[in-house]
Amino acid sequence: MNIDTKKIKSMLDRKGRMKIFLSVCASCGACADSCFYYRNSGDPESTPSYKALNSLGIMFRKWKKLDYDDLTAMKKLIWGKCVMCRRCYCPLGIDISSAISWARTICRANGVYEDFSEGPSGIKDK
Ligand code: SF4
Ligand code: SF4
Repeated sequence: MNIDTKKIKSMLDRKGRMKIFLSVCASCGACADSCFYYRNSGDPESTPSYKALNSLGIMFRKWKKLDYDDLTAMKKLIWGKCVMCRRCYCPLGIDISSAISWARTICRANGVYEDFSEGPSGIKDK
C-alpha cells in the first residue's frame, strides 16, 4: 500500500518545533521512570523517548523514504506500547506524548491505525 510522503512532509512542517525538541533528547532515560509500560516490562522499546524517536523522530529524519511497513512498525510502538496517559516527564521539557500523538495522527492520515476490534493487545499487521 502506498503512503503519501508529501502529505507527511506537510504535516511534519506544521510541527517543526517538535523536530527541535526531539533533536535535543540527551538519552538520559529519565522519562522511562514515568511510563508504566517501561516500569512494568523493563523493555527498552517501551521508554517514552524510544517511542517518540522511533516514530515521529524517524518521520522527520527520513520522510522521503518512508513506506507503509515503516508506519506499521511504528504502530506497534505508538499504539501498542502507549496509552497516551501523558505522564512521561522530561527534564529538558520535551513533550514526548505530544510527539507520539502527532505520529499517530500522521499514521492515521495514511491508513495506519489501531484496530480495536483486534482486542486489547491485538496489535496485528494489516
Ligand atoms: S527524559 Fe527527555 S532528554 Fe531524557 S531520554 Fe527522555 S526525552 Fe530524552
Ligand atoms: S503517554 Fe505513553 S509514553 Fe508517555 S507515560 Fe503514558 S504510556 Fe508512557
